[in-house]
Amino acid sequence: MDEEVVTILSNYIRGRFVEHAGSEWMDVVEPATGVVFAKLPLSDSQDVGAAVEAAREAQPGWASLEIKERADWLDAIADSLEASFEEIAELESRDTGKPISLARNVDANRSVANFRFFAGLIREQESEAFEMDDATNYVVNKSVGVGALITPWNLPLYLLSWKVAPAIGMGNTVVCKPSELTPMTADLLMRVIDGVGLPAGVVNLVHGDGAGAGSPLVAHPEIDLISFTGGTSTGEKVAASAAPMFKKISLELGGKNSSIVFADCDMEKTVAGVVRSGFLNQGQVCLCGSRVLVESSVYDEFETKFVESVERMRIGDPSDDSTDLGALISKDHLQKVQGYVNLAIEEGGRVLTGGAPCLPSEFEGGNWMAPTVIAGLSPESRCSTEEIFGPVVTLHRFESEEEAVEIANGTRYGLAGSVWTSDIERGKRVSEAMETGMVWVNTWLHRDLRVPFGGVKDSGVGREGGKWSLGFFSEAMNICVKHD
Ligand code: NDP
Repeated sequence: MDEEVVTILSNYIRGRFVEHAGSEWMDVVEPATGVVFAKLPLSDSQDVGAAVEAAREAQPGWASLEIKERADWLDAIADSLEASFEEIAELESRDTGKPISLARNVDANRSVANFRFFAGLIREQESEAFEMDDATNYVVNKSVGVGALITPWNLPLYLLSWKVAPAIGMGNTVVCKPSELTPMTADLLMRVIDGVGLPAGVVNLVHGDGAGAGSPLVAHPEIDLISFTGGTSTGEKVAASAAPMFKKISLELGGKNSSIVFADCDMEKTVAGVVRSGFLNQGQVCLCGSRVLVESSVYDEFETKFVESVERMRIGDPSDDSTDLGALISKDHLQKVQGYVNLAIEEGGRVLTGGAPCLPSEFEGGNWMAPTVIAGLSPESRCSTEEIFGPVVTLHRFESEEEAVEIANGTRYGLAGSVWTSDIERGKRVSEAMETGMVWVNTWLHRDLRVPFGGVKDSGVGREGGKWSLGFFSEAMNICVKHD
């Protein structure tokens, strides 16, 4: 590729785009083609130190603003992001390999909505007071201090904005560390923040990999809170590093989510919903329903319709409006996902559809995998209990409601799930029996920003979303005033 069109990224510290301390760089690769289109600084602990110092110095001044003033800043960022809507979608699609329609409808939309939503929510916050016979207890929500915000590659700006908005809204200052695989929209957010003139040091960004930048950021003694979204094994390391310093921590980790299909469901709508839940973003969403449990009496009908529907999805050029499925994030990830399909065959599974897709030559350097459906596996097999995080769905039969719940709960994860039935009481009953943080009945990824978001078991610790985000990004203080 022509060197002239390669974008050179830099860190954003103390309100300025600055060079990193070291001399190491990393290529940013387009997943659909394998073309290098940007270079990212591989920052180290010195860069992290400078960013944390800037955030620390800015924090008292930022926290002293009225809530309304901080809400106005969030709205200004939302306005400016909205003006860059198409650029967000194009960068996100190019950087992640996801279809442009998805990047518009989900990533660009939500990034703007996150800032708008939290601006409104912090404005509406009401102060709490508890009366005693002889005293009044006031609750004051104070800022925590300096936050480390660490995000993965699947929903880059969607998740970064989900953390930055409530964090700074509650008076904290932050250092962001996006995934080194998808840095482009984090850079765009810094340009937006710079453009609106947010006070220097309130939001800082350090590019780099987990070992060089993420790990020193988490371990930095001046970091007071950590909001981490990523894999469960990385979450373990983050938790271990943060625990001895008693940092406030929120972990949104991996998932292996079940979609439970009962015989009384609306079959057409269910097939469409379960296909979407299995394959959105090439199956690279922590909430994806990658194990589908189907009541025996309708299993054969469901299997046939499901496979037909999966085979109708259009895979190819992410920049084409009609594309349903794009490329996987990296060569390593593609290899991991293919490894799981091989494992499924060793474990006795039958591949009903899948294999390498046929694409034009311009995409031959990309990371492509056709959507894959596997039947015949035991629900305890590795392929149906471990997080694959790719376009691979396993189908399983169940005979009773109890068995469905038992299979659904038979993994180390507990993030999300969906239940498909015309009996709403059963939908709610089964949902409540599931060991998971979120369940949708007759829908999937139908998000209301006010609701709690997070998982149980190995899917994480804590809740974000709505008032739960405001709670996490603040310290509730009690002041008890004795009456005369
Ligand atoms: P990783 O855990 O590999 O990385 C997440 C982030 O952590 C990246 O920015 C990464 O940097 C950084 N990191 C890596 N090592 C360390 C370390 N030792 N200390 C601090 N930071 C570190 O996840 P992926 O990026 O591969 O994302 C996929 C995972 O994210 C899946 O498991 C998915 O389920 C989960 N996820 C969970 C969600 C949820 O809300 N529960 C939502 C979306 C995804 P680098 O990229 O440089 O390694």
